[in-house]
Amino acid sequence: MTLPDVNEMFSTDARCRELLERLRWPEGVTCPRCKDTRVSRLKEYARYECVGCEYQFTATSGTIFHDSHLPLPIWFVAVLLLCEAKKGMSAMQLKRTLWGTDRGSYKTAWYLCHRIRAAMNEANKPMLDGTVEMDETYVGGKQRGLDQHWRKNRKKQVVVGIRQRGGDVRFFHAEDAKSGTLAKYIQENISTDVDVIVTDELPAYRKAVGKHKHETVNHSAKEYVRAGTDIHTNTVESAFSLLKRGIIGSWHKISAKHLPAYLSEMEFRFNRRNRSDLFIDTLRHMVTADPLTFDNLTREKEATF
Ligand SMILES: [Zn+2]
Repeated sequence: MTLPDVNEMFSTDARCRELLERLRWPEGVTCPRCKDTRVSRLKEYARYECVGCEYQFTATSGTIFHDSHLPLPIWFVAVLLLCEAKKGMSAMQLKRTLWGTDRGSYKTAWYLCHRIRAAMNEANKPMLDGTVEMDETYVGGKQRGLDQHWRKNRKKQVVVGIRQRGGDVRFFHAEDAKSGTLAKYIQENISTDVDVIVTDELPAYRKAVGKHKHETVNHSAKEYVRAGTDIHTNTVESAFSLLKRGIIGSWHKISAKHLPAYLSEMEFRFNRRNRSDLFIDTLRHMVTADPLTFDNLTREKEATF
């Protein structure tokens, strides 16, 4: 899907809504409140009324689009831009691309980005299997080009990455890299039948990996691939490097509070990098995910790092 495709196919609210209805209700329109399939289309544009409970709704009621005043074609272009930006796109960049420098507000663009990002947070992900690489990295550390203020108030955040070789990656904003924390991620994300878990020589992994088969590479001795074997953590590291380019190059300053949301976005896009339906799939998530209100998004304030 390209920008000209989106502009042509989804040029009006009605055309966008038609797709959203199909994605939300592949089996036919259903009342979001009581699941009744007996609904009547009201004269008023795009609205339905449930015959069972009389609730009135549209394809976007109770979804990520809920209560938005932005035209749907603008939403669709924003979704495409975020899907296609492999290293992420800042709210400022999105604002400039959609509205130029004089119109639109940064706040609107920021909230728009966060709502699309919220839809990219997936539930019920399959367990990772086969050869699984696990590694930890620190973000928000010594980044060049930041002023004294940021340098002083910045705290490094731990990100744990787990990747099935040739398959999906998972990122986690971890409290620490201690064995108990790592063990929890292993238990929740790696199949008990995994062939082998490959990590670096951080001692915490030994205990965390437990009874699974475990191989390590000694990064401190500059060993990146065990000679004559395929023991390495290069594929999880390549996912980390894309993440870091997003944080340093596109998003610049992100708060510890919102870090998990950025990790979800990066993970979602990375795991679909070879799929041609990334755009449609993102829209499908947006009409099936819960709304994200501005109040919820901004409830607690935390320093950026
Ligand atoms: Zn109903």
